[in-house]
Amino acid sequence: MKTGILGGTFDPVHLGHTGVAEAATKELGLDRVMMMPVHIQPFKQDRRTASAEDRVAMLALAVARCDKLEVSTYEIENEVVSYTYDTIRALSERHPEDEICFIMGSDSLMSIDTWYKGAELLGLCSFAVGLRPGDDRAAVEAKAALLRERYSAEITLLQEMMLPVSSTQIRELVERGEPIYGLVAPEVEVYIDEHDLYL
Ligand code: ATP
Repeated sequence: MKTGILGGTFDPVHLGHTGVAEAATKELGLDRVMMMPVHIQPFKQDRRTASAEDRVAMLALAVARCDKLEVSTYEIENEVVSYTYDTIRALSERHPEDEICFIMGSDSLMSIDTWYKGAELLGLCSFAVGLRPGDDRAAVEAKAALLRERYSAEITLLQEMMLPVSSTQIRELVERGEPIYGLVAPEVEVYIDEHDLYL
């Protein structure tokens, strides 16, 4: 089984997240993608941070429309800040028959070697990277080439162009009372409205 993992805050999940997961599924022939929200430490939360329960509920609504996407509450249930390295190791041990591909946007790739045990992480699984608008393809290609050479990392830069949307942008639009139509799944838009999130 080829399993993709897309980790993130998902505060809230938007069409850029489902887009990168679906592009990786299509281009790399993944069997499933687990969208895995991170645990946020309570002291880091402010009134504009949605609760874990809300973030998971929005993810469930977003993936209901996408065939191979599922939600994993693995990190949230752990209730500690988990490092990607530890999560991927634990998942590989739990599912030794799975081939794991960590999915990310190009902004994340640019800093991955500074992450906790970044060098080890780069050898633990393969990576699929979606080019976010505003990021320069040549610079991202150069970073991928360097990581392949230095750490023998297996990195695929996805062909499909990603959507110009971020969770920060959505929280700001909602706070200003502006529409977020077309940036999140319609069910997520309704959820944000009904639960008065990000106001
Ligand atoms: P924020 O604006 O709060 O920083 P974000 O929109 O970047 O949030 P995260 O939950 O932090 O979302 O991102 C999770 C993962 O999804 C990261 O690897 C990030 O690069 C990727 N990602 C986020 N938005 C997009 C997008 N529009 N296209 C492709 N990948 C994306």
